Amino acid sequence: MVDRYDIAIVGSGPAGISAAINAKIRNKNIIIFGSKNLSAKLYKAPKINNYLGFPEISGEILKKEFEKHLDKMNINITYERINAVYSMGDYFTLMVNEKIYESTALILATGVEYTKSIKGEEEFLGKGVGYCATCDAPLYKGKIVTIIGYNNEAEEDANYVSELASKTYYIPMYKGEYKLKEKIELLNGKPLEIKGNNFVSKLILNNREIETDGIFILKDSVPPGQLVPGLLIENSHIKVNRNMETNIKGCYAAGDCVGRPYQYMKAAGEGQVAALNAVAYIDSLKKL
Ligand code: FAD
Repeated sequence: MVDRYDIAIVGSGPAGISAAINAKIRNKNIIIFGSKNLSAKLYKAPKINNYLGFPEISGEILKKEFEKHLDKMNINITYERINAVYSMGDYFTLMVNEKIYESTALILATGVEYTKSIKGEEEFLGKGVGYCATCDAPLYKGKIVTIIGYNNEAEEDANYVSELASKTYYIPMYKGEYKLKEKIELLNGKPLEIKGNNFVSKLILNNREIETDGIFILKDSVPPGQLVPGLLIENSHIKVNRNMETNIKGCYAAGDCVGRPYQYMKAAGEGQVAALNAVAYIDSLKKL
């Protein structure tokens, strides 16, 4: 039996944190998923001039202030990456590889991905290109798989895929030490183009070409339409109304993932609106 939370929040940037704090103040049983650094877009900002009450604060210090606030409210972030979310009608199922979480309401605060897509990425999406290696790995049993990883969490996925694939390439888009199984071939090159006929067959890098049956592109955020099947997307952002409601009952979204301007305070404000409306939604269910 899986515990069911009132609200699950996906993302630990200003939008997700603000949603978590506001839902907790209203006594809801919440879970928030994110990363140890909260948000790379937060701690990397050299100087922030427009966060109310904190003139000229650095992203690193603002992150520490957010952490203090979370501690004071007894909110712990669950350091897990949600791979997929399914609406089950009156609740949501959130998948972390083989692990399952459940919640009555859902708040998406996943941010946006700034990196450009690779030529051919959209054309071959679902035809050999995917964003969730652990979800789709079984399709590539005995085949050649390439993982393009944008952060070291992708190494774990590559290790998992290599158990099933006949050959696994790993292309890191970041510098560091890589904890990869021996059978994985590390390639240092820049992916330029994905090629194939109906299905992926080749990846062109700046320094070589490789034959491959599947390519997983693992960035900080999965495109929201891929994360939650059925979610309405407009101009690359999640479509919401002024209550931050999406087209799926019980599902709210806030922050960069719902549109510009990409700003901390706008994200935090929307996180609050999303949380208050998610709380009202849960309370309305209890009255039925
Ligand atoms: P993010 O901060 O992007 O947080 C999203 C979080 O969700 C990330 O931690 C991500 O890892 C996590 N996540 C995503 N998908 C999943 C998943 N499936 N499972 C679990 N976790 C997931 N704005 C200003 O107002 N003023 C500034 O001075 C300013 N300076 C900036 C400087 C830089 C260098 C950058 C890059 C941005 C700056 N911004 C600034 C913009 C600001 O960073 C963003 O608008 C803000 O961070 C958006 O907050 P968010 O919560 O929507 O998303």
